[in-house]
Amino acid sequence: MNRQLPLRQRVRKALVILAFLSFPITMNFLSPYVIIDGAANGILNGSLVMFGLMFISSLFLGRAWCGWVCPGAGMQEIVEPVNSNPVRGRRVDWVKWLIWIPWISLIVWLAVRSGGYQTVDLLYHTQGGISVAGSADRPILFAYIIYYFVIGLFVGLAIFVGRRAGCHTICWMAPFMIFGRWLRNRFGWPSLRLKADIAACADCKKCTSNCPMSLDVNVMVQAGKMENTECILCGTCVDNCTKQAVRYSFSSGK
Ligand code: SF4
Ligand code: SF4
Ligand code: SF4
Repeated sequence: MNRQLPLRQRVRKALVILAFLSFPITMNFLSPYVIIDGAANGILNGSLVMFGLMFISSLFLGRAWCGWVCPGAGMQEIVEPVNSNPVRGRRVDWVKWLIWIPWISLIVWLAVRSGGYQTVDLLYHTQGGISVAGSADRPILFAYIIYYFVIGLFVGLAIFVGRRAGCHTICWMAPFMIFGRWLRNRFGWPSLRLKADIAACADCKKCTSNCPMSLDVNVMVQAGKMENTECILCGTCVDNCTKQAVRYSFSSGK
């Protein structure tokens, strides 16, 4: 018989699945293309604002967005029963930077070339805030193709490579939060993080086998170093440790 997830993890799963179900509305607020098009036309758009908010949230909440409310999390976790293999080998985590650096450079270049942002349109490339919708110059079929392409990418990677493979490799949003968290660590202000109690740890490795981001959590606990760029603060390790050797903390980490 399947064991019931701890309550907090059931709430978390429900939130990321709801975020996934809302993706027809939110897709163009998280779009790597809309921000480019906005920069080229000098339009401050919803994607730019959302990526900015992700960066700001990471200064105090790390990558909690990834653990708790991202539609990309929902679309990958929903297929975890199909392939729950961990994504080992931390070199895959660098792939997203190969995408992010040229992408963000292009956005900056286009914004400068267009003379900066002159207008604000937070609903840019949506129909009254709905992303998967038709318009006079673009049929709804076009929006559906993009929608299924994005889902296919993330779901395909999760099915064929392993747990949250898309988060490790192709995500254009994660670097904003990784950079924010790096800044937080550099200056050392208080924020949400994990704390380990080395003495309490029984080295059972349950935290490692359950981590959605395939991290060696028991090694992190044993070393007393819970900071990891790929940790999404989902709390799976916290809620599955019967020894309470990992906990959430809002602190400076010193
Ligand atoms: S890494 Fe990207 S896709 Fe994955 S949860 Fe974070 S923002 Fe979403
Ligand atoms: S689940 Fe808890 S006791 Fe087991 S290895 Fe992880 S931190 Fe240690
Ligand atoms: S280390 Fe814990 S909080 Fe971080 S991603 Fe893994 S299970 Fe989630």
